[in-house]
Amino acid sequence: MDANKPPSRGGYNGPHMLLVRLGIGLVLLGAVAPGQKPGDEEVRRVHRAAILIDAHNDAPLRVIRGVDIGPRAKDGHTDLVRLREGGVDAVFFAAYVSPTYVPRRQAARQALEMIDAVRTSMVGRYPGDFTLALTASDIESAHREGKIAVLIGVEGGHAIENSHRVLRSFHALGARYMTLTHANTNDWADSSGDVDNPKVPHHNGLTDFGRQVIAEMNRLGMMVDISHVSDKTFWDVLEVSRTPIFASHSSCRALCNDPRNLTDEMIRALAAKGGLVQINFRAAFLTQRAAPPAGVEDVVAHIDHVVKLTGIGAVGIGSDYDGIDYAPVGLEDVSKFPNLTRALLAKGYSPEDIARIYGGNLLRLMRAVEAAAGR
Ligand SMILES: [Zn+2]
Repeated sequence: MDANKPPSRGGYNGPHMLLVRLGIGLVLLGAVAPGQKPGDEEVRRVHRAAILIDAHNDAPLRVIRGVDIGPRAKDGHTDLVRLREGGVDAVFFAAYVSPTYVPRRQAARQALEMIDAVRTSMVGRYPGDFTLALTASDIESAHREGKIAVLIGVEGGHAIENSHRVLRSFHALGARYMTLTHANTNDWADSSGDVDNPKVPHHNGLTDFGRQVIAEMNRLGMMVDISHVSDKTFWDVLEVSRTPIFASHSSCRALCNDPRNLTDEMIRALAAKGGLVQINFRAAFLTQRAAPPAGVEDVVAHIDHVVKLTGIGAVGIGSDYDGIDYAPVGLEDVSKFPNLTRALLAKGYSPEDIARIYGGNLLRLMRAVEAAAGR
């Protein structure tokens, strides 16, 4: 969820700007001559062969307001019809808890409501299409059965209300990652969203209790998500976690200077410990160009940046659909993922590379976290 700030720029998607952007894109990419465009059949084949896992989607925010996830909707980014069209094989739906629930002391309750929205109003309502997945193997089984694997990630560590028992209960209900903070610093971890606010009591990263939370997540087999945390918290978590950590929905600061994105130094250090950056599609996290708007090629540029820094094994997808204001042109909603496959092929990525970016890397991380659980 990253629509809490006003958009820094508009998203003019008119045909004229599209042509201008295409022209600029071709010049920048250089290697892509019109004759080298991958064919639709190749795109379909490569897309279908990969297990596409989106590590962060905020559709539960709409479902909890009563939206039926089944039929094609005119608004929003996600529904069952468009997930199928987009060839999405697995989604981590965010049990996002707004920081506004903290002073009301209803953060844990809201997390439970969101988790139930996923379990009852999504998976429970469409059991022929969705199946709740708890492990990497569950995702692969769902793929074989032609179902969409649904996973749960709690967004905002304030949701545990400083209780290990609440954390364990979220895990018992199916949550397989937790984003340590949202845009708010909580009682045990600093956020990137308010590091500059002198009115907020900060901890210089992670507190001792925060370290215990990480230890318990490691023991449970819950992935540690560092999207939204401050830089100092990132380094503290990287040091203390026994398992690889990941950013479920962040991009590269070198390409777009926003504190929600990761620096090259962070990406290298994360990757050296087996971690992952799942690229966020929010236009304002992809580019700072005043015009033209963000496009598919910007997502490719962020993926490519991580690959150049670390190799193919440290990058994935965390769209943040239904939690973002402006999505890139060409990736307007979950049905458009094949456009990303086309763009990655055009950039020279092999089908094997694409399979790792889309899901192979995250499955590997999940297995590492599962293997370390219980210790
Ligand atoms: Zn978020």
